[in-house]
Amino acid sequence: MPPLTEIPWGVWVVAAFTFGAVIGSFLNVVIYRLPRDQSIVRPASRCPACAQPIACWANVPLLSYLALRGRCFHCKARISARYPAVEALTGLLFAALFVYWGFTPQLPVTWLLSAALIAVIFIDVEHQIIPNAITFPGIPLGLACAWLLPIPPDIVDALFGLFIAGGMMWAIAAVYEWSTGRVGLGMGDVKLVAMLGCFLGLQAALGILVIGSLLGLGQALVMIAFRGAGRLTRIPFGPALAVAGIVHLFDPDILPRMLGQL
Ligand SMILES: [Zn+2]
Repeated sequence: MPPLTEIPWGVWVVAAFTFGAVIGSFLNVVIYRLPRDQSIVRPASRCPACAQPIACWANVPLLSYLALRGRCFHCKARISARYPAVEALTGLLFAALFVYWGFTPQLPVTWLLSAALIAVIFIDVEHQIIPNAITFPGIPLGLACAWLLPIPPDIVDALFGLFIAGGMMWAIAAVYEWSTGRVGLGMGDVKLVAMLGCFLGLQAALGILVIGSLLGLGQALVMIAFRGAGRLTRIPFGPALAVAGIVHLFDPDILPRMLGQL
């Protein structure tokens, strides 16, 4: 076996993609089971149609879906295209984050956070919730990273992010509820911003809040224009925040630049 430094860069990129696809396969379990209050550890994966356990060889990320042409091996029921989509998306993101960050302490943190945000996007779009099972462990984990790792943010910045950015999101949700008489932004969104503040610091969390609001507003206008959604249709704000968070992992200066152009 050659020394690690002699392994070509491209091999590492492919390895990062493969690792991401495997994590994506686990995220599929999280996305399906968390909103249904099922354990993400047991039982082993089953076909939702015929309840047959899925064999190891039929559970290989991306390849099994292609080999089985998107159908269950036993009952031939269609498998949702979401499964390979989440695996491919996570693989691509992990590879891209590796290309951007290389072998730095930021890499595992950005991988962890992007995996959590992918789960948030798919769960919130389908169920309009952001599970506490993601944000509650995420908040202390983010603070621990800020405290222990020699990378930004430091622990003070992370605590500012938690309380100030999280507090602002809470205030926005409270004003929305008071002015419209209904809950538009859930506490899940507040906890998500608080978690991002812990991992990325105050300025980043505020930037994500602004970019996420713009994305959410654009999404609301599109929904009203094309789908006839009324003013009071609940807009899932979580996916917009999560997408803004993922963009920020690649480009921490995106908000200062956008504001500079206004
Ligand atoms: Zn089946």
